[in-house]
Amino acid sequence: PAEAVPQAPEDPLFGLMRAYRADDSPDKVDLGIGAYRDDNAKPWVLPVVKKADEILRNDPNLNHEYLPIAGLASFTNKAGELLLGPSSPAFEEKRVSSTQTISGTGAVHLGALFLAKFYKVNGASRTVYLSNPTWANHNQIFTNVGLSITTYPYFDKKTKGLDIEGMKRALADAPERSIILLHACAHNPTGVDPTEEQWREIADVMAAKKHFPFFDCAYQGFASGDLDRDADAIRYFVEKGFELLIAQSFAKNFGLYGERAGCFHYVAPPSPQAAEITTRVASQLAILQRSEISNPPIYGARIASTVLNDKALFEEWKENLRTMSGRILTMRKALRTKLEELGTPGTWNHITDQIGMFSFTGLSETQVLRLREEFHVYMTKNGRISMAGLNTRNVEYFAKAVDKIVRE
Ligand code: PMP
Repeated sequence: PAEAVPQAPEDPLFGLMRAYRADDSPDKVDLGIGAYRDDNAKPWVLPVVKKADEILRNDPNLNHEYLPIAGLASFTNKAGELLLGPSSPAFEEKRVSSTQTISGTGAVHLGALFLAKFYKVNGASRTVYLSNPTWANHNQIFTNVGLSITTYPYFDKKTKGLDIEGMKRALADAPERSIILLHACAHNPTGVDPTEEQWREIADVMAAKKHFPFFDCAYQGFASGDLDRDADAIRYFVEKGFELLIAQSFAKNFGLYGERAGCFHYVAPPSPQAAEITTRVASQLAILQRSEISNPPIYGARIASTVLNDKALFEEWKENLRTMSGRILTMRKALRTKLEELGTPGTWNHITDQIGMFSFTGLSETQVLRLREEFHVYMTKNGRISMAGLNTRNVEYFAKAVDKIVRE
């Protein structure tokens, strides 16, 4: 039967990583994958993660038994508090169900599976609305579980900012009770987030149309450097009484990429039946989880749990987060300054206006390919750069390369 299986293309992002590794130029610059690098272009193990690792290694009682199906409770409880705030009435009212997942991807998948199975109106599934553009994997995660997808306008090519009017119009025109995927903060790939006021407007349209929000939160602490501020949009929607889903990743903010630490949260709207509904949802999520992965991996969750449950370590984590977001901010300023000094044609304010790990440069696919071929600079075809790939040694080289390409 496998004779009929067609060849699939390589994943573009992982293909880019492979091409970068194979390039032996000393000048090569990796602006592809969204993983933090220090000023020496090296992966950074957070000092607080090293400490947690040390604590775990010295614990004689640790073993390698299975976690429960829903994961490590000391981790998932704190993960939920990180998003909603520890004093959210949703906890007191038992309206939150949290399931540990295979990082953020697993959380988006579990949410997608849950929606495909249980979220129907008149027996039919609802369409998922994704921002245009969005993290490429969203498309296949939702279609793989049989949900249909479409897009809402998001990025305004002219201003290189948010197309708020287009977005609101699309949400208003979408059929009632559509599923709307929202990036909680540090939008990937554009680096463009709605303002507080714009989030309110988005929430108003969504409430009027009874839409179902699904937040993807992969960069908490990376947008503003402040964990609470980066969760403002989610907290606002919870306060407004939405029933909602959240996919949470600890890959970037803990630097635990390969450990796959993440969480999926269901939040019920306030009602006398909310606690009972939440229990029923949790029971179904447990069945889905059991058939998919049986139970989640333990190491990353233990690391995060150790930090989240210790006051001093938690403070140190926040400091580590500020180190990462601070360095990225410095690189944004440096890149914009260099381009403006060179008088590179175009405007470059969006480099510092955009936030989080990525910047949508506005470079065309042809320009991106020339940067790779002539300057050994690796970035995705859509013109996105991972700011974390820039450092004090290569930012000028990159700016000069962009300058040359843009002028020709
Ligand atoms: N959502 C978005 C928007 C992302 O950018 C990412 C990471 N690239 C993820 C989810 C999930 O990543 P992970 O599975 O590594 O946590």
